[in-house]
Amino acid sequence: MKIEILAVGSELLTPFYQDTNSLYLTQRLNDLGLEVSFKTVVGDDRESLLVCIKNALVHADVLLAMGGLGPTADDITREVFAETLGRQLVYCPDIFKKIEARFRRRALAIPAANKKQAYIIQGSEVLENKNGTAPGLWLEEGRTRIALLPGPPAELKPMFEEFVWPKLAAFQKGFSSRRVIKIAGLTESEVETRISGLYPKEQGLGLTILASPGQIEIQLYAFAPDASGLPAIKIEDLGQRILERLGGHVFSTAGEELEEVVGGLLGEHRKTLAVAESCSGGLLSHRLTNVSGSSKYFLEGLITYSNQAKIRDLNVPEALIQNHGAVSAEVAQAMADGVRQKAGSNFGLAITGIAGPTGGTAEKPVGLVYSALSWEGGVDIIKNVFPGKREQIKFQSTQKALDMLRRHLL
Ligand code: AMP
Ligand code: MG
Repeated sequence: MKIEILAVGSELLTPFYQDTNSLYLTQRLNDLGLEVSFKTVVGDDRESLLVCIKNALVHADVLLAMGGLGPTADDITREVFAETLGRQLVYCPDIFKKIEARFRRRALAIPAANKKQAYIIQGSEVLENKNGTAPGLWLEEGRTRIALLPGPPAELKPMFEEFVWPKLAAFQKGFSSRRVIKIAGLTESEVETRISGLYPKEQGLGLTILASPGQIEIQLYAFAPDASGLPAIKIEDLGQRILERLGGHVFSTAGEELEEVVGGLLGEHRKTLAVAESCSGGLLSHRLTNVSGSSKYFLEGLITYSNQAKIRDLNVPEALIQNHGAVSAEVAQAMADGVRQKAGSNFGLAITGIAGPTGGTAEKPVGLVYSALSWEGGVDIIKNVFPGKREQIKFQSTQKALDMLRRHLL
């Protein structure tokens, strides 16, 4: 069984865009015990695409092609496939109506260019696009089954899951299970040390550590060619042993982000939160409000970047800033207390630090961040010196603040 992935798009041949769709498709194929034999990236160029399609028809049992189904002149995948296969393009009024309805819902007139998306290759099955205009197509040519999928990942993924996955499941060679364990507050080497000895040696069981500043993910993967329940049992068993070693450092085993976990805990405890941010520039508020339903517990967020704003909006005493500096434990605490009192929330979270690359001194280096959590009757302050560039320091400072609140709520 030979499977080929064909990514179409001239942007994918530049240094600026990556073909991430094929990684997604490969993972899902692996879940069925299927492996990819060929992977090609080709530009929006008729000649080159013709060569790729002809080539695939010779050796591939399954060809997953994506990109180039859009309305613009450089989107030629549909046309070149029809040409290579010697089939007509047939106009489908039903597809046109659906595209038209999409535009109408957004109170827009349908552009003339989108009409070409209503043409399908003769003899193909239409895969409805519930997240965009370009429908996908499924067709068979000789021994090769072909899927044409839209390029935008937000359109490709749901279409693949709903329409292509069930067709490929017929070729399933085994059963798999995955789990992601997410950790905050430990470095990669600390995680490594804690789980040493747990790396699986048996076939069909894998453990990978993915580290990024502020977050470590342990990915577990199990596969069995025959028994359907076995991978899940193996993952559960290995996952349990990892959890025992990492304890409260683990914030999620079900894929959630830290802000979702914190939001869930706030909701559970019926507590409210307000935040005061300096060097994170609103990122903490942004992350908190990425969670649907956050209005139940998130009352307000202030970006008090200047000293004046800290004094005026958070009642931070001017003398405190003069004596200790804006980046200090004392000011972090005053910010957290101040925003909690101002908002009348149960918790106040504050971040103040030096995101760099300029502004650091020997005493207060770039990456120095104070996070403070304030509640009625108490306060918790943590000093960190985060590594990395400006954006990474901003992210780590929000991660630390969220994790302080998570641990407090636990
Ligand atoms: P297209 O369907 O060719 O109009 O693609 C629309 C957009 O989807 C492109 O601008 C890319 O941002 C994205 N895209 C296309 N192909 C891929 C791919 N293989 N991986 C990730 N993104 C893609
Ligand atoms: Mg394109």
